[in-house]
Amino acid sequence: MFINQDCIKAIYCFSKMNNWKQFCGFIKESYDNLKSCDEGNVASYIPKLATADPNLFGISVVSYTGEEYHIGDTSTSFCVQSCVKPLLYMLALEEKGSEYVAKHIGREPSGQRFNSLMFNSENLPYNPLINAGAIMSTSLIKSEEKRDMRYDHIHKSWRTIISGDSDCIGFDNSVFLSEKDSASRNIALSYLMEENSVFPNGTNIENTLDLYFQSCSMTMTTKYLARFAAVMANSGLDLHTGERRISASVLKDTLCVMYSSGMYDYSGRWSTDIGIPAKSGVAGTVFAVIPNVCGICVFSPPLDEMGNSVRAVRFFTELSRRFSIHIFETFIQGLDKKVRLTSVHDEKVADLYKACKEGDVVKLTSILSEDDVDVNVSDYDG
Ligand code: GLU
Repeated sequence: MFINQDCIKAIYCFSKMNNWKQFCGFIKESYDNLKSCDEGNVASYIPKLATADPNLFGISVVSYTGEEYHIGDTSTSFCVQSCVKPLLYMLALEEKGSEYVAKHIGREPSGQRFNSLMFNSENLPYNPLINAGAIMSTSLIKSEEKRDMRYDHIHKSWRTIISGDSDCIGFDNSVFLSEKDSASRNIALSYLMEENSVFPNGTNIENTLDLYFQSCSMTMTTKYLARFAAVMANSGLDLHTGERRISASVLKDTLCVMYSSGMYDYSGRWSTDIGIPAKSGVAGTVFAVIPNVCGICVFSPPLDEMGNSVRAVRFFTELSRRFSIHIFETFIQGLDKKVRLTSVHDEKVADLYKACKEGDVVKLTSILSEDDVDVNVSDYDG
């Protein structure tokens, strides 16, 4: 039997699908349990966000092979806010390269609030996921182009990554105006960075801030944000065609900062307890990447004191209690007894194919002698 990469991927895809149902069952159960949670408060420092309906709640999961599961308010659009920051960083990296970008943005957790006026020892933003860093990323994107072209570039690039319809990304002008009219802190941050001469030469601060606020005011549903996370989970490749949507090195750099700094002042606890790259936004969204498995997006506006959606954090905490999703748990054997997203049985099927590929008759015979390996199993298209 000849085994190539696609075949191996199909085997893993199939093995994931085997406990896909169990996984979706957990998501429904968790959604039902969390629906009655009434803790937290919606963000109000951008006045328009204070009008959000605190009862909205939706969870979307998109596997790296394209299966989808949605529950709750998953067709309601919300402002992406900080969830756009990983994209802004990716676009800056893609265009300018990591060496150049590193001259303008650090990669350390800040240990400060997301809108803090503190900078690292070189006067640079600590990382691209706090406001200063995201404003800096914005300044690096198509800086020679006209304002409309720059916005279009951000919008189109995101749409291409998620293979979305023409209306998959909207724009909330009221939130944009509301944020622009109450932006003293972001304005202060930007002028401090200008004073420190850390912006690229020729940066127009007002245009950069507008573009940053416009990017944060883009709207999406959990379905699409989960799809964005799924493309990241799929090594940056399109879920259906396998075409590259995000360069490998750009994706690696982005996932690293999401892992260390994506969840505001909870980032250290999150990477220890939950252990997957994620990004949170003040509209009440968290999207997370489980590499080689799926992308998940949870939307529920009430926030905890760190600025993360209360229901989203509880959902991921429970998910990590039940399934082995922590990126280190997935390779440290014997660390836990949780459900792996590839079950033992499926690993045997993968071993079986590997033995065929290697012509290892002894191994093959041994696997086939075990009762629970069915060589005739097949996926949905046989
Ligand atoms: N546009 C918001 C700000 O700059 C984004 C905040 C967030 O979601 O963390 O404050």
